[in-house]
Amino acid sequence: MKLAGKVALITGASRGIGRGIAEVFAEEGADVAVNYVQNAEKAEETVALVRERGRRAIAAKADVASGAEVEAMVDRVWNELGPIDVLVNNAGIETIVPFLELTEEQWHRLTDVNLKGEFLCAQVVARKMVAAGRKGAIVNIGSIQAAKVLPGRTHYAPTKLGIEALTRNVSAELAEYGIRVNCVHPGYFDTDMTAWILKRPDLLPGILAQISLGRAGVPREIGTVAAFFASDEASYITGQSIFVDGGWVGK
Ligand code: NDP
Repeated sequence: MKLAGKVALITGASRGIGRGIAEVFAEEGADVAVNYVQNAEKAEETVALVRERGRRAIAAKADVASGAEVEAMVDRVWNELGPIDVLVNNAGIETIVPFLELTEEQWHRLTDVNLKGEFLCAQVVARKMVAAGRKGAIVNIGSIQAAKVLPGRTHYAPTKLGIEALTRNVSAELAEYGIRVNCVHPGYFDTDMTAWILKRPDLLPGILAQISLGRAGVPREIGTVAAFFASDEASYITGQSIFVDGGWVGK
């Protein structure tokens, strides 16, 4: 098992990709804190999936865009599950708004959750790791949109390219403490965030035709890559970003 005995905090793990990461992490031997912001019931479902795999789990509510809530969540996880070894910064939101209609408020909310949220969680967790003299790993979840234009995502795409830069910069500053930081960019994954695509038979074939493997990814396929980055098998990898997209960005 790649993550035996580790404690992981996974943001946005009540559903979708975060839940897939939680399942794989539990199978690899990690105890998991399941962060969510509003869906307590779904978070408890993920907690149950982790426990079914023989690992400890708690649900941990916090809006990642709030420094105070992130601090309280990290303290609670640290006290209840033990020192955090791995942070997966996965929580995110996507809205689709044409550039000419995008409001300042929409810009702020989306960038606060997607980009500031990853900064806040990484800083709060890393400060505690450093203070405790513990090594660790941070895995940031970005998006294929760090490299690809999709319409109506003027606010979303920069957060994801920003996560790539955040990953590089934070990795350089945390290397001396034995904390590695890497990024996974998902392509098209079948989750609540993308459910609307399945209702658009006019769009789906065009999207799948651009993906070399010809299908959407499943959340566990991000989980296995995140587990690798979080594990000692990736001990010489930091500041790196990888596209897990079935061959979309490169086609
Ligand atoms: P979902 O919409 O299915 O799930 C989003 C998760 O994030 C939920 O657990 C939700 O919690 C949580 N969340 C949302 N806002 C906050 C917040 N402010 N604070 C804490 N948690 C929050 O999304 P996906 O699983 O599809 O996406 C996960 C990540 O992957 C995101 O960063 C997304 O941008 C990225 N991604 C997804 C792709 C895809 O094809 N699905 C493609 C590329 C990137 P709750 O249930 O409580 O609302």
